[in-house]
Amino acid sequence: MKVLKFGGTSVGSVESLNNVKKIVESISGEAVIVVSALGGLTDKLIATAKMAAEGDSEWLKEMDAISLRHHDIIKNVVSNEKQSLIKSAVDEHLTELKRNYEGVFLLRSLPEKVLDVIVSFGERMSSIIVAAMVDHGKRYYSPDFIKTEKWYGKNIADRKLTDKLIKETLGKLGKNEKAIIPGFISTDSTTGEITNLGRGGSDYTGALIAAALGAEILEIWTDVDGFMTADPRIVKDALIIDHLTFTESMELCTFGAKVIYPPTIYPVFHSNIPIKILNTFNPDAPGTLITDQAQQDDLEVKGVTSLKDVALITINIKSFNDIKDPLKRALNTLSRQAVRIIPVANPDPYTELNFAVTASDAEVSLEMLEKEFAPEISSGKIEKPILKGNLAAVALVGIDMRSRSRLAARIGHSLRRQGINVEAYSAGNSDTTLIYIINQEKSDEALPLIHSLVFEL
Ligand code: ADP
Ligand code: ASP
Ligand code: MG
Repeated sequence: MKVLKFGGTSVGSVESLNNVKKIVESISGEAVIVVSALGGLTDKLIATAKMAAEGDSEWLKEMDAISLRHHDIIKNVVSNEKQSLIKSAVDEHLTELKRNYEGVFLLRSLPEKVLDVIVSFGERMSSIIVAAMVDHGKRYYSPDFIKTEKWYGKNIADRKLTDKLIKETLGKLGKNEKAIIPGFISTDSTTGEITNLGRGGSDYTGALIAAALGAEILEIWTDVDGFMTADPRIVKDALIIDHLTFTESMELCTFGAKVIYPPTIYPVFHSNIPIKILNTFNPDAPGTLITDQAQQDDLEVKGVTSLKDVALITINIKSFNDIKDPLKRALNTLSRQAVRIIPVANPDPYTELNFAVTASDAEVSLEMLEKEFAPEISSGKIEKPILKGNLAAVALVGIDMRSRSRLAARIGHSLRRQGINVEAYSAGNSDTTLIYIINQEKSDEALPLIHSLVFEL
């Protein structure tokens, strides 16, 4: 059985929804179909919530536009017999959504839990519409079986419980049934409160279901012909990649390739379920296949990506003879707070330590390091850690990257010639990725430069 996931643009218009219908109805037998909210809707839901919280009564106009957009879609894609049923089901959600906005407006406050409820309406409504459109479509409510738990303040999937509930709910579909699932949304396994899997999380919903059911493939249907050698919005001549390994795709995604939400890869990787990236607007294009093993005609270098909002922390060590294993101490400290560390080289860890982290982890990292080295800082053996923000991690992903020292040097040289300073560099934790930490403002310039060096020789 296949699991298909359709992203926002794929369910964002009458034309694209008709493509979705065709693609789903061409599948023989049962399938699970995960859908995102109508394209751009999640952003709109959040922006409207912020308006209401700030006391801007224009939120009402936005609410009307949200209702109108759904009504318009229903009118154009749902058959006449189902129109009134589907309209009233969606209207119930719209009414509840409006009530949430009213509460936010009155209280001038937007608690995270309320925002989680507000954003959940996108997928709740789109899934009702898609289920009504496709033959043999039946909607299931994913918050009943996609469960999250708290981990350092974040909601992460409760894999064990989710796995069990998915098997119970979707394990035995009716003949030819197409189970339509709202992506992204979930509930807390302890409190039952509505949560979500993070922005872009519908991909992850698809992966959790594919892994639990042992699907033959997870198809991610989006608006480009496949995974590309760079973000096509930044690098105009980016190429489609025919094949990637799980590891390569994971590296590309964690370093900013938006095409798949990073946590998606783990569950399917562990169950060895291939992923295919396909285009809803060009279903005949071969797309990109992602599997565990490299294939013979694979590109050696797969792509270049950039992750913005990165910070670099530097610690200068004055008296290195007196301090035992400072790098290990620093890494242990950061890992205790579940800080995501972007690997950068520490060529001389007894005189200088460098850590790249995401901007959201920067303050807590700095605090933790200051606390860890407080005795050495006060005695002057170590200088206070310095934080440099506004950086980006540019990553080059491929096979045997560590052995490509000439390419790495050429890239470093070209960046410098272009006036782009490399603040830190590393060959990553694996043999798959080279990382350059540069000024964030320069990353849209660095990407085409590196791409042309690697792919257009
Ligand atoms: P969806 O709504 O289908 O989930 P997303 O917007 O999340 O779609 O992801 C698809 C988009 O990712 C593409 O339209 C493209 O602009 C962007 N993108 C960024 N990097 C890449 C890449 N390396 N390959 C393909 N697309 C990329
Ligand atoms: N609608 C959600 C978002 O925009 C989830 C998704 O599209 O995957 O983040
Ligand atoms: Mg996406």
